[in-house]
Amino acid sequence: ARNLHSAARRPKTVAIGPRDMSRIDLHLHTTHSDGSQTPAEVVTLAHEAGVSALAITDHDITTGLPEAMATGQTLGIEIIPGIEISSRHGESELHVLGYFLKWEDAQLNERLTALRESRHRRNPKIVALLQAAGIDITYDEVRAVAGSDSVGRPHIARVLMDKKVVTSAKEAFDRFLAEGKPAYVPRDLPSPADAIRWIREAGGLAVLAHPTWVKTVEGTLTDLARQLKEQGLDGVEVHYSTHTPRQTREYLSLAKQLGLLVTGGSDFHGLTKPDIEVGTGKGSLHVPDHLLPKLKDAVAAL
Ligand code: AMP
Ligand code: ZN
Ligand code: FE
Ligand code: FE
Repeated sequence: ARNLHSAARRPKTVAIGPRDMSRIDLHLHTTHSDGSQTPAEVVTLAHEAGVSALAITDHDITTGLPEAMATGQTLGIEIIPGIEISSRHGESELHVLGYFLKWEDAQLNERLTALRESRHRRNPKIVALLQAAGIDITYDEVRAVAGSDSVGRPHIARVLMDKKVVTSAKEAFDRFLAEGKPAYVPRDLPSPADAIRWIREAGGLAVLAHPTWVKTVEGTLTDLARQLKEQGLDGVEVHYSTHTPRQTREYLSLAKQLGLLVTGGSDFHGLTKPDIEVGTGKGSLHVPDHLLPKLKDAVAAL
């Protein structure tokens, strides 16, 4: 899988090399949730992309952090402990990122374990719907592909790819797994307020992930962000792989208007999202490292 991210496939416009240390990436997934690269591989890719600090933000799990920290120490990259928690807002999902949390905190880990259990309740129902559609697939196969306790739809997608039912994760979502498709099953999700509170109670900063995905129920995104701020939200993921320049400006002004911190990251998943690279996203992502001291000041002031 490493050749996927080799220099040859890197867009030519990305001239920033390993010695340019102005870039950070605060949104990365590993094999400990639904990414395809190990924590050590992700940190190594970040090093090659000139990233000076990164956050591992696996879904509902923190077990990838020790390996990432060890590799970070070897390569001289700062590793920020992170998490990504999905919550429900109306009919759609709202993802909350957590940074600098006390990731070994017992209460946090009980809560994350419960979230992973809700995944184990949901996934077999998805598999049953796929079986009903005539596809030969079992949850044991999905768990084997996942290899960790945080099992998600991208793992089901990977089994469908391995079985040549689909040729890409995108096709698996478009045909079967996405909301509204034949094998979609909703998951019990916490409220945004709970996700924010759990991160805060673990000593972390809570950040609204990829606002481009958020579907507001009523009112504007600004109204929603203001409400989330009252519930403890600290920041907004302004810089993101799929944000257009116009969206980036819009979210930047939203953050300024509400006094929220600015963060950013690629949401790298490896083969699950093959067009997104560590540090550079789709080629034009650049999360400036001067954002990091502001986050650290905010954590220190909590
Ligand atoms: P789950 O956590 O099991 O609900 O799966 C959701 C995850 O699937 C998201 O965090 C994304 O990483 C990934 N995902 C969602 N939609 C797509 C898509 N169309 N193609 C590839 N991956 C997707
Ligand atoms: Zn994911
Ligand atoms: Fe997300
Ligand atoms: Fe993510």
